[in-house]
Amino acid sequence: MGKRNGAVPICDRTPPLPPALQIYGGKRKGLIQPPSILHSPKVIYVRVLIADEVDQECSARLRAAGFEVSERFDISAEELKRVVGDYEVLIVRSRTKVTQEIIESGRRLRLIGRVGVGLDTIDTKSAEAKGIKVINSPQMSTVAVAELVMSMMLNLVRGVHLANESMKKGLWEKKRFHGTELNGKTLGVVGLGRIGKAVAERAKSFGMKIIVYDVIVDDEIIKRLGAERTATLEELLKRSDIVTLHVPLLPETRRMINERTLSIVKPGAYLINASRGEVVDCKHLLEALKSGRLAGAALDVYENEPPKEPWEKELVALPNVVATPHVGAQTREAQVLGAITIAENIINAFKPL
Ligand code: NAD
Repeated sequence: MGKRNGAVPICDRTPPLPPALQIYGGKRKGLIQPPSILHSPKVIYVRVLIADEVDQECSARLRAAGFEVSERFDISAEELKRVVGDYEVLIVRSRTKVTQEIIESGRRLRLIGRVGVGLDTIDTKSAEAKGIKVINSPQMSTVAVAELVMSMMLNLVRGVHLANESMKKGLWEKKRFHGTELNGKTLGVVGLGRIGKAVAERAKSFGMKIIVYDVIVDDEIIKRLGAERTATLEELLKRSDIVTLHVPLLPETRRMINERTLSIVKPGAYLINASRGEVVDCKHLLEALKSGRLAGAALDVYENEPPKEPWEKELVALPNVVATPHVGAQTREAQVLGAITIAENIINAFKPL
């Protein structure tokens, strides 16, 4: 190992060191090495593999703090399995699935950083069993997703996507595009966490009445928002002109919008899903849209990404569906914030005590 000025030696800090890494420089763990040891061939440095496209702020900050960083944004699952054993830290977004197999191959892995919110692409149970810490950056996409949802709402009620398509064909179909207004309508927010709350705040400024279904959130938070809690999901669905889903994917939320719950929805309502694809049973959503039970839907997330089944393709092709390819968090601001958050948390996790 050559000279690595300022490189970060592994030290005793959470997450706990796996046995193989508990000595370095020939010394017991937990000691901050004197400068001379930094150049010893026995010192183990913290190596970071970034396996998905993460803003360069992440690698820049880690390198400045002395970490060794490899960026392999297009790495295949096979190749990742082959090389992950060389790294102490793995950073991913949503493309790379960190499976049990990958975790088992990560002999030195101590930390997995997910630039984003959901941890459903990481086998957190296997990571925990091996003492590997998993961190994410849940705040990064709050504003980005909330703004996308507001644009979806406006698109749905005014048919902006259809008017735009028509104009691009050289048409002037002024009479075709009669919409409705958000003002005075009831927005049903399912899941009033970070994103749900940000959507509710924005929708209030459009003059909407907000009703909320959430199994955990405090009455006080709902009151401060000037919103109203519904006792059940069914009540929310019956009363909302627009329903927007902001729950995490859990066994209880998987397909919470299904044949039964879709039959309760107020006729002519709109549904927005920018949470996780599996929260909605999209085969039944397709039926509800074709039958006119729902006036429209906006989707950013899908069970298969990209959609592959014929019925999924039919769903996104419907004129009353506004579809985006899971871009909720894709603003420059959100990506930079996520990259910085993950880098800083990794630097802190490896700081000597
Ligand atoms: P959060 O954890 O802050 O909020 C989730 C809320 O859902 C909490 O208030 C929780 O109490 C509530 N909840 C949990 N189980 C529930 C249930 N069974 N019924 C009703 N409410 C329930 O999460 P967040 O950061 O606001 O993210 C919300 C969703 O958005 C997640 O699914 C996340 O993966 C997704 N997301 C999507 C994108 C995108 O690109 N489209 C980006 C970021 C996050």
